[in-house]
This record gives sequence, structure tokens and C-alpha cells, in this order.
Amino acid sequence: MSIDVRTPAERDAILADPGFGRHVTDHMVVADWSSTGGWTVPRVTPYGPLTLQPSAAVLHYSQEIFEGLKAYRHADGGIHLFRPERNARRFAASARMLALPELAEQDFLDAVAALLRADHAWVPDGTGERSLYLRPFTVATEPFLGVRAAAEATFAVIGGPAGAYFPGGVTGIGLWVSTEHSRAAPGGTGAAKCGGNYAAGLAAQAEAKARGCDQVLFLDATEHRWLEEAGTMNVVVVTADGTLATPPLGTILDGVTRHSVLTLAPEHGLVPVERPIAIDEVLRGCADGSVTEVFAVGTAAVVTPVTSLVHAGVTTTVGDGAPGPHALAIREHLTDIQYGRAADVHGWMRRVV
Ligand SMILES: *Cc1c(COP(=O)(O)O)cnc(C)c1O
Repeated sequence: MSIDVRTPAERDAILADPGFGRHVTDHMVVADWSSTGGWTVPRVTPYGPLTLQPSAAVLHYSQEIFEGLKAYRHADGGIHLFRPERNARRFAASARMLALPELAEQDFLDAVAALLRADHAWVPDGTGERSLYLRPFTVATEPFLGVRAAAEATFAVIGGPAGAYFPGGVTGIGLWVSTEHSRAAPGGTGAAKCGGNYAAGLAAQAEAKARGCDQVLFLDATEHRWLEEAGTMNVVVVTADGTLATPPLGTILDGVTRHSVLTLAPEHGLVPVERPIAIDEVLRGCADGSVTEVFAVGTAAVVTPVTSLVHAGVTTTVGDGAPGPHALAIREHLTDIQYGRAADVHGWMRRVV
């Protein structure tokens, strides 16, 4: 990744086909923390390397948390965030779970806004579902090999343009239901957005790919029976009797998209329910028609239809094997709100620039 400020022409070439996670903007916001001095005032600086000691705690014990949210440009040129207070609150909750210093929610929001003001030209217009993806994170920087909560940390916000997740139209994915791996256990860090959870899930994700699936679907750690979530997205099941069901919070991430989809469900004729969902119920339901749709939800892809599930070597088709109508309608509804094409009746959008 380049750390030189790009010319407007170079930036426009990147924004024409940004992909995801390949490019960063020109600036970042950084604040340092120590147990004695607290936080420094967050500063906007040119994007560039962080300097860490090889003994920095994060490199050894994964004391790290992050967030992910998008900035959307509306037709009038304004730049808006979607429910960023929930990211700020979750970031503080993740900090507590990882024994990292908490950043005040307003300071989190101000830091994100500061980066957007500095790099507003990097927010693409909304055609083709483009956006600017923002990645706030905190890492333990104290140079100390003992095992305890670090006394020094760095918070930063970086960002990069993101293109349409489904450039050729929304397609379904296949999930490999792991009966061996677990993502989280009660009392663990499943509800934190932390790098360690991802590191621990990569082998399962690789196994899903090796078996011809797109992602892994994790079950509970005790019985390997109850749905938890996909590696990076929450999961939702639509039943023929008109419910939109999703597993309860606890060992899964409290997704902003999950919460938004539960809130919008009644507007789509579905009763939202948070309840334990057994994998055998889902597989049987796909076979007898009582489960009509399964989809995964998260900021990056919004709504991703799940069209097949592979469990214990058996492939089950969801619905007729094509993206379901509720998945597509809820996806469109959410993106219409995010891009300012639909009325924001829930008061979710925050204009920043
Ligand atoms: C970020 C994330 C999600 C989705 O959360 P959103 O707030 O909707 O983006 C779901 N599961 C995991 C494990 C995540 O890290």
C-alpha cells in the first residue's frame, strides 16, 4: 500500500474500481494511551507505518480490538454514517472484554468524523453501492513480555474505498457447518470484535473453502448443535410461518446489521425472534419447506443469501437454491436507507460532511 498522498487522477482511478481492503486513504487518526497519562488528543496525520517494539504486547498476546463501518455519499454530496453510536458502544464493550483502555464514545465518533473530513474526497459517490470503509482499532503497544493487561496502547482509524460486494448482482453462498471447530464459548470473547477471534477462525474458514464452500458456519461449542454465526457475519433464518429468527446474543457479535434487520422485519411481514436455532431444525426445515430462507448479515455485504448448507458431508439446498425474496427485499431496503434513497424513519443516519 502506498503511503504517498495520491494525485486526484490517481485517486479517481482507484475509486473507479476500489475492490475491498486493497487501498487506503491519505490520512489516519491516531491517539496513544498510557495507564499514567490516559489518552492523548487524537491527531490527523498522513497514513503511514506505526512503530512498534518487537516486544509490544499485541504481537504476542493478541490484545487487539477493531470496528468496521461505512460512510455513504448521498445524492446531494453529503457524507453519512449508519448508526455509528452502536459501533462506538461496541468498541468500548470490546475494550472492556480485552482489558484495553476504553475510548469515550464521543471521542470514537469524533475521530471517525475527523478522518472523513480530512479524506472526504475518498468517499466515492453512491453509484454501484460504493462506500468508504472505516476501520478503527486499538492495539496494546507496551514493550513487555509478561502476561498482564498492557499499560500502553494505540488507537487509530484508517479507511479505504469499497466497491460493490456483489458487482454482478446478488448471488448466494454455500456455508460449511463445522461440527469440530468452535468460534466462541460461554465466558469467552465471542461477543468482542477482536482479532484473536478471527485468527482462531481462519483454519475453519480454510477448511470450508477446501470443501467447496464460501464460508464456515459455527455452531455452539458445547453440543455443536445450535447456530452461532458465520465467520464474519450474523445469521438469520426465515420460516414459512412468517418469522425472521436469529440466535440470541451471548457468544456471538452484536451486529449492527443484525439489529437493523430485526427492526425492519415487521415492515416485511415477518415477526422478529431471537431464539436458539438448532441445525437439525434448519436442515429438516429446508427439506420440508418450513424454512424458506437463510441469510448472513454484516456491514461489508449487508445481506448475503445462503443457498446451500453442507453438514456432516451432506449438502442441503435452501429454498430453490436461488437468493430468497426476503433477503433481497431487506437488502434493498437497508441500502436504500444507507444511500439516502429511502426515508430514514428510524433515525439511523448521521451526516458528517
Ligand atoms: C463485524 C462482525 C459481524 C457483523 O457486524 P456488523 O456490525 O453488522 O457489521 C458479525 N460477526 C462478526 C464475528 C463480526 O466481527
